[in-house]
Amino acid sequence: MESKPEARLELSEQEMLDYGHRIVDLIAGHHATQRTKNPVAVATRKEMDTLFSEEAPENPTDAHKVLDFVMEQVIPGTNLLSHPKFFSFVPGPSNYISAMADTLATGFNVFSGGWAAAPSAAELEIVTMNWLLKMFGFPQKKGGGIFTSGGSMANLTALVTARNIKCGEDFSKATIYLSDQAHSSNIKAIRVMGFRKEQIRIIPTDMEFKFGINKLKNAINRDRLEGLEPFCILASAGTTNTGTVDPLVEIGEICKKEKLWFHVDGAYGGAAILGKDGKKLLKGIDKADSITVDPHKWFYQPYEMGCLLVRNHRWLSGTFTEKPEYLRDVEGNESEINFFDHGIQLTRRFRALKFYMSIKTFGLKAFREAVQYNIDLAEATDAYLRKSRTWEVVSPATLAIINFRYNPIAKNLSEKELDQLNAKISEQVVNSRQAMLVTTILNGMIVLRMCLINPRTTLKDVTDTIELCESFAD
Ligand SMILES: *Cc1c(COP(=O)(O)O)cnc(C)c1O
Repeated sequence: MESKPEARLELSEQEMLDYGHRIVDLIAGHHATQRTKNPVAVATRKEMDTLFSEEAPENPTDAHKVLDFVMEQVIPGTNLLSHPKFFSFVPGPSNYISAMADTLATGFNVFSGGWAAAPSAAELEIVTMNWLLKMFGFPQKKGGGIFTSGGSMANLTALVTARNIKCGEDFSKATIYLSDQAHSSNIKAIRVMGFRKEQIRIIPTDMEFKFGINKLKNAINRDRLEGLEPFCILASAGTTNTGTVDPLVEIGEICKKEKLWFHVDGAYGGAAILGKDGKKLLKGIDKADSITVDPHKWFYQPYEMGCLLVRNHRWLSGTFTEKPEYLRDVEGNESEINFFDHGIQLTRRFRALKFYMSIKTFGLKAFREAVQYNIDLAEATDAYLRKSRTWEVVSPATLAIINFRYNPIAKNLSEKELDQLNAKISEQVVNSRQAMLVTTILNGMIVLRMCLINPRTTLKDVTDTIELCESFAD
């Protein structure tokens, strides 16, 4: 028996080549010319519905026509997070080698779940994980980790592991501590895990947006006196708002003394370890039990790629191993890791490949220089703003993030006027589509925020954008 030719979802070899070459041309062309495009796409649901809404088509359409339509309508409807003037959220600078590596992994549809399915894919995950373990000062043989879809999944995987190791089955009295600047994905993870609101302690930060240590100690003591069971402190190494690194050394000491799990969410900021001052900036991170880093942020990888590192790989296998009968035969040797036993997903794409190929191709030194450049660029932006009579730095350049606001000395504006003015500036910049620059709220003030982790962003890109802001200020 054979399926009908059209039911094989196939193209001829020549058709595949023509189609594939077009796509590579488009991607390479985009990488080469991205700087000349506008980074911002804005559209309403209604506009998008008008363009795209239709029933699933029963009948075929020419492949090139579908691709043309996608290039004309779909791709332009997305923000360019790799654009040098995309300053908001956490940009995704990405790189071409990794984009091609992802294409390769998808083209060969590599199953990166178990050792037996792809020994080389599992091995590359082990090798690249060892690179990361070494960077963060974790033990290489004993330590372990897993690549995930992103930081949210890495944090969830970390906290499930922490709970299993510290609390076992009964977590009804367990409490967890994080600061009011911790990333929202952590609260989401804690809620997904079935903790009640009363088990979550959100500790206020100090004037510099750091975890308040005294308040943290008080909360832990109080909870113990109430008969509760503190099990984990979650620190941020680079809060998304300001780049602030929590006092990791002190938090590590508290965790040691109180026998708590020490998780560091370094989803965006962890990569600073590559810079020349990285060890100093992230002092104490090597004492964590687990670390989240997001290679799809500041390790310049395309989406989706997060990573969880743990001090002891047995914590992962001890938490996530469940063996249905049909997986019995693929267990293999203990040292031959089945990554489906180290995390939540069974079927997994081959994420390690892009990390491996880009680091092999460019060399780690290029990554170190890129990260240091980003830190220096934020410092230069800080210095530029401080020289001006119209700008005020609200939170200084930290791990490539800076927060500032338009506040001309001469005008003496009220807080309310300043909030309105800065919100207006951001709105007009975004509407101009020339740069992506949105606001955040710090100590109740509306401020502009730049996250400068793109190594292709120049100081001129930054100062041109600041001048654009000034043009909208009056
Ligand atoms: C981005 C970020 C996350 C979430 O990571 P995703 O990859 O978006 O899921 C978690 N924590 C911090 C500090 C982040 O900056």
